[in-house]
Amino acid sequence: MAIIKTLYYLLKLKLHQRFNLEKLEKIQNEKLKNLIHYSYNNVPYYRKLFNDNNISPRDIRTKNDLKKIPITKKEDIQENYESIISKKKLRKKHEIIFTSGSTGKPLKILTTKKEIDYNNALILYVALEQGRSLLDKTIRFHIPEPNTKKSLLSKFGIFKRYDLDISDTLEDVVREYIKISPKHIASSPSFLIEFITYLQENNIKIKKPRTISLHGEVITLIERRKLTKFFGNKIFNIYGAAEVSRIAFECEKHNGLHIITDGCIVEFLDSEGNEIESNKEGHIVITNLYNYAMPLIRYDLGDLGIPISKRCYCGRTWPLLKQLTGRKDDIFILPNNRKISPNRIPSWHLRSLNGIKQFEIIQEKKDKILINIIKSQKFNNKSKIKLEKAKKALMSFFGPALEIKINITSGVPKKTDYKKRSIISKVKK
Ligand SMILES: [Zn+2]
Repeated sequence: MAIIKTLYYLLKLKLHQRFNLEKLEKIQNEKLKNLIHYSYNNVPYYRKLFNDNNISPRDIRTKNDLKKIPITKKEDIQENYESIISKKKLRKKHEIIFTSGSTGKPLKILTTKKEIDYNNALILYVALEQGRSLLDKTIRFHIPEPNTKKSLLSKFGIFKRYDLDISDTLEDVVREYIKISPKHIASSPSFLIEFITYLQENNIKIKKPRTISLHGEVITLIERRKLTKFFGNKIFNIYGAAEVSRIAFECEKHNGLHIITDGCIVEFLDSEGNEIESNKEGHIVITNLYNYAMPLIRYDLGDLGIPISKRCYCGRTWPLLKQLTGRKDDIFILPNNRKISPNRIPSWHLRSLNGIKQFEIIQEKKDKILINIIKSQKFNNKSKIKLEKAKKALMSFFGPALEIKINITSGVPKKTDYKKRSIISKVKK
């Protein structure tokens, strides 16, 4: 009975969120030991990885021991696809999830029935902690994907969800929104900004939802302020990935995101693979403690984030992720080989510019940056002056070795990419 198992996991999450760190680690370590033994015995990729590096499964007992194991990247899985799948016949059918193909080829991830039940519990848990009620009518702004099945939760009438296709015109999306009048919105920050900009420009009033959850991309401070000004302080970030479902969530105190340690070990590493200090930016590497069909041990998600060691005063003991800062693929590499994280690139002038629908800062080559602007009808001389200011700020940030070009068009903003990124690097890493 899937629903009973889901409720069982939900209860555990509710209970564990107030355990002390020692207890939380103990729970994690037990699951880690089981996963490591299982993977060594049933998954050829890990058996080889361990043997090649003289690791015995007995060496890995805690999160600290994980650093002995080399990191696995998306490319490693693609190259060794068959050998990373468990050889043991799992009792229940594998489910398949596709990771987003925003950077490179999509990846097929196999999972088990047990993990699906746990993931459903995670979805419920995060929603309840973020103040949603089970019967809230929900609108999800998204690009429809092929093969999406009705979730177990919606079969039971929980979170009655309406999926609105954001590749429709904004006029259609707004009309549907008003008809449905939801209590909750799930969206990417960039689409929600477009949505409210359209409402404001056309002077359309809507009934505001009680809560909003943001997924799928990094939100900047300016975007956050804009959304909060419009909707009030009811915006909640969720960090997740197709490979591991929900990883972290924002609580009602809005102090960053709580990392749910029950199902996943999250490490923050520097480019040499060492653990970073609190309040510094690191590469996010995860170990999924529930997936036995295709174990992911020290898997690099390609995301960057900043952990903090302070506690949240909401009383939940899950550790905190201060913020997500971008995709590793989007790190700029300058002609002198200096690496710049996407969140450090000064895009403030562009983000606050009136008269544009969308912008992208693209590093085309090591010494060439292109700024793509899609202007709106409100683009005027003032916008032009501000745009020059933005270019100057970028020039003084990057130095004279980089050429910066601006390309202004009046097309339709791209909506094809769920993880829409405004800072992109095409330089090979
Ligand atoms: Zn909290």
